Amino acid sequence: MKKLRLVLGDQLNSQHSWYQKVDDNILYCFFEMRQETDYVTHHIQKIAGFFAAMRNFAEELKSNNHAVFYVRLNDENNTQSLTDNLSKIIKEQGVNKFEYQLPDEYRLDTQLKDYCKNLNIASEPFSTQHFYTKRDDLKTFFKGKKTFLMENFYRDMRKKHQILMISEQPEGGKWNFDASNRKKWKGDTFIPPPKNFDNDVSEIVVELEKSGVQSIGKINPKYFEYPISRKQSLEQLAYFCEHLLIHFGDFQDAMHTDNWYLFHSKLSFAMNTKMISPKEIIAATLKTYRARKDEIDISQVEGFIRQIIGWREYMRGMYWMLMPSYKQENFLDNKNKLPDFFWTGNTKMNCIKNAIHNSLDNGYAHHIQRLMITGNFALLAQVNPDEIDAWYLGIYVDAIEWVQLPNTRGMSQFADGGKIATKPYVSSGSYIHKMSNYCDGCKYNKKTKFEDDSCPFNTLYWNFLDEKKEKLASNFRMKMMYSLLNKMSSEDRSKIKEKANHIIKNIDEY
Ligand code: FAD
Ligand code: SF4
Repeated sequence: MKKLRLVLGDQLNSQHSWYQKVDDNILYCFFEMRQETDYVTHHIQKIAGFFAAMRNFAEELKSNNHAVFYVRLNDENNTQSLTDNLSKIIKEQGVNKFEYQLPDEYRLDTQLKDYCKNLNIASEPFSTQHFYTKRDDLKTFFKGKKTFLMENFYRDMRKKHQILMISEQPEGGKWNFDASNRKKWKGDTFIPPPKNFDNDVSEIVVELEKSGVQSIGKINPKYFEYPISRKQSLEQLAYFCEHLLIHFGDFQDAMHTDNWYLFHSKLSFAMNTKMISPKEIIAATLKTYRARKDEIDISQVEGFIRQIIGWREYMRGMYWMLMPSYKQENFLDNKNKLPDFFWTGNTKMNCIKNAIHNSLDNGYAHHIQRLMITGNFALLAQVNPDEIDAWYLGIYVDAIEWVQLPNTRGMSQFADGGKIATKPYVSSGSYIHKMSNYCDGCKYNKKTKFEDDSCPFNTLYWNFLDEKKEKLASNFRMKMMYSLLNKMSSEDRSKIKEKANHIIKNIDEY
């Protein structure tokens, strides 16, 4: 029997049981397609990174004597559609059975399910063997519950997998060291240089240009910095454990104009393409912690582990629990257009300028820049979540819908009415100042609300609370903010309104 096995661009898991045995009757296929380059406008580094990692993985399989059928973007035989490419190979190669790993994206899952329904040969889906949890685990975990708190899921994961546990109790006496994870970086703690690779992806960039694929952002094709092979992914992990873990928790929420990565791992691309698994990352982190317990505090380690076995697995589970209707949710009824400066970085607001330039230059921004700067602003400016999703799904090298959508629509925009976050993540300029040095070099005044030079975050923040009070004032976690708003004079409130309207109407001048 001749089998065809599909490997999608984010399924580059060389440790998968598929590859343990070489079988001449199994053909592995990879496709670079317009279907994937064009469903949203991606960052050039994202497309080049995916194709480079796919090409490397296909070569690795070939060198291990597996049979591989690789279709490049501009190959003549490329139909540019997943299902047409599959049908073509099935026919030409006399395939009797089609096998695939379950896609993490709803869009591709539906496409493959529909395809297999009409296929006249046998087909079978397999697990990707990457995550700790299965797609539907959260559905079971939260069955009958009205709220879906990440913290409950996270504690269960810690217990189930005995991670940082002493029997049934959390190591260090606490589940969560969040409160000590909020230090501002003031330049006094040394940040090791980032681990960058000098991957040459020029050939891919030329092919993308030739085929006319639209993209955003910058690339230096001779120095693509993210890992594009398993070997490099493991090196990135080792670098993180050796140099960055030690302060990860402390400066997790910090932002600074001199440094865009701080102590973040930059492992998301390697992990989301599955070149490396979350289990390997947790094992290496724990090993480092155990060996250097006198140097590395548990708060650094717990803070990192929470991101991987907590947030990452939780977001995936929520995605599969709530799709497809999740993609349409707009609880706050936000309708405004995304400001043009999201695509150019051309704004006078120093915090946004920095976060967007990072994103355009590197295809990366760390979590708090995505949440507290760009996401916060988009929510305060009441931008339509569809436009926000398209931006986040395109701009980051690690953006795949299963993780982007719940982070954006849920955690950042509260468009799901509180399924993921317990309150909208909004803040005025003073909190941005607390966590960064952005305000020091900004033309706006972080202290005022409705003067000519007032920080737009301040004006929009109070206006947002005012305009959304019907939907938000009863939220227990918003009570304090609403009591402050209610104490404000009606004169000040109308000045805020007037100024906020001006900002929203003329947003690209700010
Ligand atoms: P580190 O800070 O070193 O964290 C380690 C790892 O933890 C990350 O690599 C990631 O795998 C995981 N992680 C941390 N936070 C989250 C989270 N909230 N959800 C899921 N995993 C998390 N992450 C993506 O991988 N793809 C996305 O498209 C994406 N979009 C986001 C959009 C918004 C609006 C926000 C607020 C967050 C988004 N995140 C996304 C989560 C997070 O910002 C990135 O995972 C992180 O910045 C990647 O950089 P890093 O590898 O240096 O992470
Ligand atoms: Fe951003 Fe306002 Fe601070 Fe300027 S003053 S950097 S706009 S928060």
